[in-house]
Amino acid sequence: MRQRVAADFAQARADLEELVRIPGCAFPGFPDEQIDRACQKVIDIYRAAGFPQVQRLDIDGGKPAVLAEAPGPPGSPTVLLYAHYDVQPAGDVSLWDSPPFEPSERDGRLYGRGAADDKSGVVIHAAVMRAFEGRPPCTLRVIVEGEEEWGGPFTDHPRSHPDLFAADAIVVADVGNARLGQPAFTTALRGMGAVTVECRTLAGAVHSGMFGGPAPDALMALITLLATMRDADGETVIEGIDGFDWDGADVDEADFRDIAGVDPDQPLIGTGSVASRLFSKPVVNVVGIDAPPTQGAVNAVIPEAKARVSLRVPPGLDAVAARDALIRHLESHAPWGVHVSVTPDVVGQGVRVDTSGPAYAAAREAMLQAYGTPVQEIGAGGSIPLVDSLLAAVPGAEILLFGAQDPLARIHAPNESVDLAELQRAILAEALFIRNLGSGVL
Ligand SMILES: [Zn+2]
Repeated sequence: MRQRVAADFAQARADLEELVRIPGCAFPGFPDEQIDRACQKVIDIYRAAGFPQVQRLDIDGGKPAVLAEAPGPPGSPTVLLYAHYDVQPAGDVSLWDSPPFEPSERDGRLYGRGAADDKSGVVIHAAVMRAFEGRPPCTLRVIVEGEEEWGGPFTDHPRSHPDLFAADAIVVADVGNARLGQPAFTTALRGMGAVTVECRTLAGAVHSGMFGGPAPDALMALITLLATMRDADGETVIEGIDGFDWDGADVDEADFRDIAGVDPDQPLIGTGSVASRLFSKPVVNVVGIDAPPTQGAVNAVIPEAKARVSLRVPPGLDAVAARDALIRHLESHAPWGVHVSVTPDVVGQGVRVDTSGPAYAAAREAMLQAYGTPVQEIGAGGSIPLVDSLLAAVPGAEILLFGAQDPLARIHAPNESVDLAELQRAILAEALFIRNLGSGVL
């Protein structure tokens, strides 16, 4: 298998380069024509890889997906392989060292928008099919969507079409390892929620010399209220939202500081391991405030102020319940009897994956075989809403998240890239996983 994957890798890379050349972005304002081209290219790649059935799936109100199927031997398990072909916009092209939609290799990495996120996932599934020379030991069904980055209606597709997603195991190849060459399963994704909080104190702005003192300042009240969400260490403290200590691999502090761009003399905030702070504890951030700008500010007591608060929810907690706990906190901690109103906004459920089943056993063995080192469990600070949707639609399936992205891939940023050796290892790992699962050796 290792030799077959190595011999085929030039084809995998050629597939990836062709995909990177198509700027298919699902965000409003970007041309559908490029999405259609990218979709057709995915269809061509899967046909050429030997899938006997490949079709375009039109999604109501969304961008087309691709469905490719290959039957395994009678009675073999069904494995659903997921990726997405749409990409983030390139952003400011002047920040790229090479043009975003022209694949370019430097130091073993292939640069280009989508090279990692998630066109790497698209080509992994095709290369795995070729590795089995058209006769996979499991029934394979590949679903590649075209609107993941934008967050279109495809996310609800598993709930409305559970039969399409029915499988014994689902591989979401839209993540990666915390370090090159160190295999990882992503087993926890934080949920999210958001609220808008508003303080009102006066009928209108009044002179701070004549009224300041007894007249309550809405902006000071809002700031005082927001400050109650964190303690002196910077830890988020909301009654009813409890995190836990991360027991998988930790995150290297120096790597984290470097990738996050934390100033060298600025300590990290919060307590516990970096991984716990990043993957398994709650956190609130104030992401916007409506208040008078400093430019042109006058000496007045502010009558109203508003903030948007973003919440990241520990995996395993219900995101709606967590958001409601945040609302209760804000309503009950207003200083000085100030009137506060809180408006709930979006939530996205987090996920904590059960890794005790037979597919995980097969994948653990495959990772060891492919990378030569035992797999570790990592979390993800962000959420993948589709995973929650899959868990709800196919409750019996084991969901595995692994792939070829790594922290140096700079996904969503300028100079996105994929490490080519890592991509080859990811192909081998997925192929060995399917072989192990199909042979029932574990
Ligand atoms: Zn992605």
